[in-house]
Amino acid sequence: MTLPRDLFAKGTGEGEGDEHPNRGPVQRTAKTTTGNAGPGESVLITVDVEDWFQVENLRPAYPLERWDSCELRVESSTKSLLDLLDRHRAKATFFVLGWVAERCGRLVTEIHKRGHEIASHGWSHQLCFGLTTRELREDLLRSKSILEDLTGQAVWGYRAPSFSVTDGVVEALGELGYRYDSSLNSFSIDKRHGQPNGLRAAPGREWAFANGILELPVSNLVIGGQSVPWGGGGYFRFWPSRLFHWGVKRILRTDGRYVFYCHPWEIDAGQPRVKEVGFLHRYRHYKNIDGTLKRLDRFLTEFRHCGLVSCRDYLGDRARGVDWSDPLSPAREGSGKQ
Ligand SMILES: [Zn+2]
Repeated sequence: MTLPRDLFAKGTGEGEGDEHPNRGPVQRTAKTTTGNAGPGESVLITVDVEDWFQVENLRPAYPLERWDSCELRVESSTKSLLDLLDRHRAKATFFVLGWVAERCGRLVTEIHKRGHEIASHGWSHQLCFGLTTRELREDLLRSKSILEDLTGQAVWGYRAPSFSVTDGVVEALGELGYRYDSSLNSFSIDKRHGQPNGLRAAPGREWAFANGILELPVSNLVIGGQSVPWGGGGYFRFWPSRLFHWGVKRILRTDGRYVFYCHPWEIDAGQPRVKEVGFLHRYRHYKNIDGTLKRLDRFLTEFRHCGLVSCRDYLGDRARGVDWSDPLSPAREGSGKQ
């Protein structure tokens, strides 16, 4: 299999300076190992809360105009995820789609009450490239507002649909009071993945843009200088569990953290089977879907000795802002709700 040049594999490393030449964070050179993750390592659990008909691969059959006629299944599958996380005493970040939040408000408040972070997945799940500056801003603002109204807590984080983050997204996040983005995905074969400019190594081993927005990239595995998708989603369902766990341990040894993502529809084996899209899209959407919850259970068990945390808990005070003028200064007080 031919893999792309890894955006994150080259360039400056930790503490090596400012502008990053390859527009992405470095995964420090890894030694091949099958050992367990070490102490102090964090696994960041993230869930993109959207329903089965809102997935980009199924969009030809289910444009936005059809969504209100579809069976809503996101509540029950999300609650199954919440129960699983409770059993493992794990906390997660739920990037909730604004369209879902407007129809399933009680689900959002339940996620919040059970101690997880509520963040934004935008409102319409349209790829960011396809929105005008005004539409993008409205999408980000509308989702943030509905989520904050439901929980009474400021939304800090954003994940772009299909990781389609752009320079315009980063700019709007800064203007609208967001604090971090988790949309960067170094697997460049997928052309939906965005590559915003200006990411720099920030104080405290984090990555940030010039406007202070921190970046928590989805974790991928670097093999031979190439980025192999390892952050979750369909790839979590594709690779055998033991192999997947091996890769996560390797990422943890080099990065000290691993950012995982999944979706409620990935554990919903009873969802309607869509036939109007091509074979590859159907294969990617339904592959091993009936066994995902068990895989997740194994995954959380395997890494129970790590911190299983939300992005907000992981970033803590660092999410208050980056003061580029003083590399020793960890934070600058931000604004907005607490
Ligand atoms: Zn999504």
